[in-house]
Amino acid sequence: MQPSLLLKPVSKALIAAFAREGVRVGPSTGPDLIVSTYGFWTAQLAFEYATPFIIAPAPKLTRETPAHMHLKWTIERIKGIAKVDDWKAQQLAAITNDVVRESGLSIDMQAVVFDQRLATTRERILKALRDPDFPPVHASVAIGAGLLPEAMSSLDAHLAQMGPERALGPGGHGTIAEVVARDATYLWQRPPRELREFESAFVDWVHMRDNKPFSAEIGLGFCLLQPYVSAGRRQLPNYSVFSPILHYREGSQWRMSGIPSTSYREAEPFTRGQRPLAEVIGAPVTTLQRAAVCPACMDVFAPASANAPHRCPDGGPHARHLVDTLRARYDSGSTTFTASELNKDSRPRPGSQDGVVAVQALEQFLLTHRATLGLRAFNGTWALMRRPTIMLTAGASPASPLEGA
Ligand SMILES: [Zn+2]
Repeated sequence: MQPSLLLKPVSKALIAAFAREGVRVGPSTGPDLIVSTYGFWTAQLAFEYATPFIIAPAPKLTRETPAHMHLKWTIERIKGIAKVDDWKAQQLAAITNDVVRESGLSIDMQAVVFDQRLATTRERILKALRDPDFPPVHASVAIGAGLLPEAMSSLDAHLAQMGPERALGPGGHGTIAEVVARDATYLWQRPPRELREFESAFVDWVHMRDNKPFSAEIGLGFCLLQPYVSAGRRQLPNYSVFSPILHYREGSQWRMSGIPSTSYREAEPFTRGQRPLAEVIGAPVTTLQRAAVCPACMDVFAPASANAPHRCPDGGPHARHLVDTLRARYDSGSTTFTASELNKDSRPRPGSQDGVVAVQALEQFLLTHRATLGLRAFNGTWALMRRPTIMLTAGASPASPLEGA
C-alpha cells in the first residue's frame, strides 16, 4: 500500500484527538506529526527514503521492546505545527504517541536492515530513528549508529548460515540442513507479525551497559515452514516453523547459534479457529518458494527463480560423497581420523577447477557441518559419534517438489 494511504486513518484519528483537546490542525500536517514520533522531520522525507511503514498489531506478549518514541522531537514538531505552548505540546505529544501505538503503525526494521532494495536509503532511515537523547533499545538502530557491527547480508547467505545450526524448540530436531533434506520445506518471507508463532522473525532489541551494547538480537524477517501430518489426521497438516535470529555478545560479531523453532497447529482440534496458513498467505503453502539442501556443498538454499540457480561456494569436498564415506567408516568401525586421512577419500565438487580438495577446506567443512555429520573434534582428530543420517539426493531440487512422495 502507498505509505500516504497507510498513514491516512492514523492521521484522521490524530486530528480528531487534537480537536478534542481544542487544537485544530489541517489534514496535511497529520502525517508529519505521526512520523515525528519515529524521529523524521516530515512525512515527505520519510516517503522519499522509502521507509517501510506497516500496520501490524504486535502480539500481546511480545519479547520485543516497544518501539522507541521520540518524545522531545514530537514536542518540537507540535509546537511548530500547532503553535501551542510547551505545556500543551507535551500533553499533545503523549496523545500522539498513544494514537500511533494503538494504530499498530510501525516500521519494518528487518526490511530496513536486510532488504537490498533499501541499500541506498538505509543509512538515512536509521539516522532519523536514532534518538540523540536516549540510548537505543533496538538492535537495528544501534547498528545504524555504529554501536553494533553491520549485520547486512543476503537471504542466500542467511539460508546457508542456517543449515548447520540445530533447531531449538518443539518444531523440529537435528540441524536445519537435516530438517530440509528430510521433507518438503518452504521459505516464507515477511510472515505475519501478529501471529505469535512467527514473532522470532521480528525480534529486535539491544541491552546497553555503560553506554555500550552488552547483548542484542535481531530476527531476519523470514522463516522456513515444513508441513507435517500428525497420526490420525492425514488430510490436515500442521507446520514446523524455523525462524533464524542473529545474536550479539559484547565485543564479538553477530552469530547464528541455534534456530528457534515452533509448531503452527492449524489441524489440532483444540485450536480450531486458528487460521489456516493457506488463508493467511492467500495461496497454498506449497506455492511458496521451495528450500532445498544442495547435495554437492550441503548449503540450504531457495533460488529466487529458475534464472537464479544455486551456485556452490568454491573449494570444499563433494558433500554427498563425503557422507557416503563417513557412513562406510562408521559401519566398518574406523570412526577416528584426521582431516588428511579423510581427504584421501574425498572428491571435489562437480565443476571445481583443479580437481583436488585442500585439507584446510575439508577441515573447515567438517567444522561447519559437524552437528549435521555427527562429528566431534579432539586434539586435531575427528571422531564420528553416530552414523550420518542426512539424505542428500541428487534429484531433490526446488523445481521438483516431492509432495505426496
Ligand atoms: Zn551447492
